[in-house]
Amino acid sequence: MVPVGELRAAPSKWDVFSVRGVDYVRLNDVWNFYGFTKRVGRSGFISYGAGDRTVSLRPSRQDFYVNNYRYILSYPVILEDGSLLISTIDMNKLVDPVLRPRLAGSGKITTVVLDPGHGGHDAGAVSPFAREKDCNLALGLKVRRRLESAGFKVVMTRDKDFFLTLGERVAIANRTPNCIFVSLHHNSGSRAASGIETFTLAPHGTTSPFARTRRTEDLAGNNQDSENIALATAVHSHSIKKTGAVDRGIQRARFSVLCTIKRPAILFEGGFVTNPQEGAKISSDRYQDMLAQCICEGIMRYTYNTCNRPITQRRSGSGSVRVGSLHSGSIPGMRATSPR
Ligand SMILES: [Zn+2]
Repeated sequence: MVPVGELRAAPSKWDVFSVRGVDYVRLNDVWNFYGFTKRVGRSGFISYGAGDRTVSLRPSRQDFYVNNYRYILSYPVILEDGSLLISTIDMNKLVDPVLRPRLAGSGKITTVVLDPGHGGHDAGAVSPFAREKDCNLALGLKVRRRLESAGFKVVMTRDKDFFLTLGERVAIANRTPNCIFVSLHHNSGSRAASGIETFTLAPHGTTSPFARTRRTEDLAGNNQDSENIALATAVHSHSIKKTGAVDRGIQRARFSVLCTIKRPAILFEGGFVTNPQEGAKISSDRYQDMLAQCICEGIMRYTYNTCNRPITQRRSGSGSVRVGSLHSGSIPGMRATSPR
């Protein structure tokens, strides 16, 4: 473990270590910075926290929990010379934007571009229990209604059953000012597979399970890395909490719709059409309503946390939305030295 330099000093010193070509910082420095102390958390994990926030992780693994919501790190946590280390990329692109979403720094968000996946001749995932393109569209229309009631402008990439290319979907978002982009999909897998997962673009210089090669060039979507993860966190955690679905985590990918988009963007997978129980649920009006409410409230939480835009929610039968606590300050030098 060789220290390769220091991030900006005040108020705390962050040594950076290069291990097998990846830069890391000590987790002890991270905990000190956030004022976290050791606590009992998930079984089998090392947990730290303060107030109502608990972070859990374990050596040699990429799963990482914040308040019991699952994230997949770009690099495993490692143990070197008795110190636990986390990569600077994960620190910059995941941990800090999640713990301090306000610093993700979106401009004002007035508009949501909703993108129900597939359509027309492209049915997406199909099973005897559900057809993806129909679930995506039904969910999208319900999210639109709720967002409009909450005061957002909504642009649908499709509001009927027709086909458009991935490039056309991205172009709609890229020409819409002050927007975020939410692509809505449902999954396929074995009959047993179930749950919700949310994808954001893999940070520059990392691999992703869906694109094993490391990308070294900048992708347009990487300019919003912090916003992407903050948006994913708000929508995903709210959906898991309210639906009780299996938490498949916030994951990284290089799907085409995420690579070239110039707006904060996520791809949300609302459940498995191939699971008999979940397939029936995601086709039902009642569950779609609940999921639409989760997505809408997640988006509201994101816009509040990152833009400090007070949202007056109209009561829709389930009470008000609790937004996270806000924090100020920034990690010394971390952003400035972060590789994009
Ligand atoms: Zn799909």
